[in-house]
Amino acid sequence: MSASAELRCRCGEVRATVKDPSPRTVNRVICYCADCQAFAHQLGRADLLDSHGGTDIVQVAPASLTFLQGQDKIVGLRLSPKGLHRWYARCCNTPVGNTVSPSIPFVGVVAQCFASERQTPDQLFGQPVGAILGKYAVGDVPKQVQGVSFGMILRALRLILSWRFSGKAWPHPFFDQATRHPRYPITVLTPEQRDALRPLCGPHPTAQPAP
Ligand SMILES: [Zn+2]
Ligand SMILES: [Zn+2]
Repeated sequence: MSASAELRCRCGEVRATVKDPSPRTVNRVICYCADCQAFAHQLGRADLLDSHGGTDIVQVAPASLTFLQGQDKIVGLRLSPKGLHRWYARCCNTPVGNTVSPSIPFVGVVAQCFASERQTPDQLFGQPVGAILGKYAVGDVPKQVQGVSFGMILRALRLILSWRFSGKAWPHPFFDQATRHPRYPITVLTPEQRDALRPLCGPHPTAQPAP
């Protein structure tokens, strides 16, 4: 197991590292929620979704993720005024980390950002431990995906609490420690912009993304 994993946007302008990658130090899940689908479509990156609209997400401790270059390309998007802060590299519209707020210390990174000639997400983090919010999945997904696994929720909570109490909440790659303000500019979608994405998203999309 390597001591760090490389994270990069599709074009390579934005690069970061994640310390101590291993199946134990992260939580890797497939998220089928409509918001993750909408975010990918907003960026024109439906290629990041699996055939059921799932996003493969690796949740890491904030302090384990450090950007090395291309920070001037990082911007944030919120699908609504209270939505997640979804950070992406504007050079090539690659998501580089989802966060709720600095008080809930985790960063969800799209697994594809870790794929390169040197490493694969599976080698670094193991396979996803499960899937969440399968009710928004497009088409038929396995039955166990549709329910809520309390084991998975406990696992995620345990990791987030351990990060909080072991000093891995700060420094945060997307929030300033002193002011708690976002480090990068954020755009919030208008309700009209948000609604325009809904036909593209599960569980029953009525439109196809533009090619
Ligand atoms: Zn890029
Ligand atoms: Zn989601």
